[in-house]
Amino acid sequence: MSQTIIVKIGTSSLTQVTNGNLALSTIATLVETMCNLQREGHRLVLVSSGAVGVGSGQLGLKERPRTMARKQAVAAVGQGRLMRVYDDLFTSLGQPIAQVLLTRSDLMQRDRYVNAYNTFQELLNLGAIPIVNENDTVAVEELQFGDNDRLSAMVASLIEADWLFLLTDVDRLYSADPRSNPDAQPITLIQNLEELTQLQVETSGTGTNWGTGGMFTKIEAARIATSAGVRTVITSGQHPRNIAKILQGEPIGTQFEAQPHASNARKRWIANAVIPSGKIYLDRGAVKAICKRGKSLLAAGILDVVGEFEASDAVQLCDSQGQEMARGLVNYSSAELQKIQGYRSEEIPAILGYIGADTVVHRDNLVLIS
Ligand code: GLU
Repeated sequence: MSQTIIVKIGTSSLTQVTNGNLALSTIATLVETMCNLQREGHRLVLVSSGAVGVGSGQLGLKERPRTMARKQAVAAVGQGRLMRVYDDLFTSLGQPIAQVLLTRSDLMQRDRYVNAYNTFQELLNLGAIPIVNENDTVAVEELQFGDNDRLSAMVASLIEADWLFLLTDVDRLYSADPRSNPDAQPITLIQNLEELTQLQVETSGTGTNWGTGGMFTKIEAARIATSAGVRTVITSGQHPRNIAKILQGEPIGTQFEAQPHASNARKRWIANAVIPSGKIYLDRGAVKAICKRGKSLLAAGILDVVGEFEASDAVQLCDSQGQEMARGLVNYSSAELQKIQGYRSEEIPAILGYIGADTVVHRDNLVLIS
């Protein structure tokens, strides 16, 4: 059966530890593996970091750039070189590729999100392998994906992928740091979000080390991807052929099962791509109506409004403790909501002096967060 597979590789797997040069044999094996899978009828996307690392090498820099402008300039140097390497290798095997550079804002607006979706579908229909990176050179700080783990998970959600492979420098997750703790147990399967949340707690704590600083972002990526219905695997970047073995069912790496998810594309966009601009705290009745009975949010159930936002912005809907229950597009600005919170719908026109929407968040624009 044809599957849509995303592979994310980071700078640590793409470069040699000793001298920072490209790890050519690893990259070539990855390219071979992806070409073979493509020939078997699967649809492949590669999310590759390395622009800043390769650019630093090209420019003879002794350390990774620290300032934003320097990083952006260096990425512009490295991205071209990186693509040249991929193009040489994929072209040797007769495989067309495409460069796709995304910024966070490309996925935040619905029309641009749909546009990106259409372009990916077209590239995959044409049999090309898109090679994706953040458009580092133009991304503004507050609107960055920040890391390619998150970027790859959001692309996986966008294109409704079946699999996301996060290649890294450890073979899988362990219950503790295997280098210092002989009792550390390998974790082969995470079945649900609760187990995942437990892991998140431990990785963010100071006492636990998973072997690499990048594990927190990988687990966050696994959360985004699995909640969008994408099976996610954390496995070693040193052995790209394992991707094919995992697809055949071998229990390699740490695998995260796909979770039940919104099948509606618009709801997936609300859940995974938009950045909420504020929080609305709800009373118990409203939480129950939304979570148990699939109702819209009305002003009467609002306890408090935090943040400044306009109508049509995305907001988090939280219980009285601040725990996020749902996310949605709001019909009123924060200033309007502060006036009408707690009031019944029929009282609203008199308070505002005009007739607005019946609901604060309509159920068509609302998704539950597990
Ligand atoms: N986009 C960055 C680069 O190409 C990498 C971001 C990351 O390492 O996650 O260098």
